[in-house]
Amino acid sequence: MQIHDLEFKIFLSAAQIQDRVQSIGAALTTQYEDKNPLFISILSGAFVFASDLIRSFNAPCEVGFVKLSSYKGTRSSGDVQTVMGLEKDLEGRHLIVVEDIVDTGRTLHFFLEHLRSQNPASVCTVALLCKPDALQFEVPIDYIGFEIPDEFVVGYGLDYDGLGRNLPDLLVKSEE
Ligand code: 5GP
Repeated sequence: MQIHDLEFKIFLSAAQIQDRVQSIGAALTTQYEDKNPLFISILSGAFVFASDLIRSFNAPCEVGFVKLSSYKGTRSSGDVQTVMGLEKDLEGRHLIVVEDIVDTGRTLHFFLEHLRSQNPASVCTVALLCKPDALQFEVPIDYIGFEIPDEFVVGYGLDYDGLGRNLPDLLVKSEE
């Protein structure tokens, strides 16, 4: 499939992703059943994963969103900024941070520092995807959906310059 100037092929099917999301949701349900956790979805890329994950969480919970950005085109730009913050009081709350993909780890590292300064009761991190070969920051990830090679992916919420977020499968850039 062509998106803008690049060719992509299927890497993970929608069914494979759903299986993994359901099992993470079940584990989180056991862990947070009586804790009314606050899921914090990092926008924009994690919105599809977060919407499936919270619906596989079978206990009371709340959901919030934060928009951070560090990416332009297919490479990290180096800066991380909070574009849109959380309105909820995080003190004493059990937080579950939902990220689409951990690449260098910069985004999550920055955001976890920000969260810890607000005295939550606990912080758990969930990433659908992680690129271990690209990691540059030490970040604790409690639940990883899939470890993937250091290649550019789109679909299931992730975009390539605006396109591809609506694709149900995860696609990877093809070698030319
Ligand atoms: P990090 O701060 O860990 O370097 O990058 C994390 C963010 O970069 C992710 O939340 C995601 O928005 C973006 N990103 C990293 N790798 C990819 C990728 O392969 N494809 C897309 N579409 N975005 C990516």
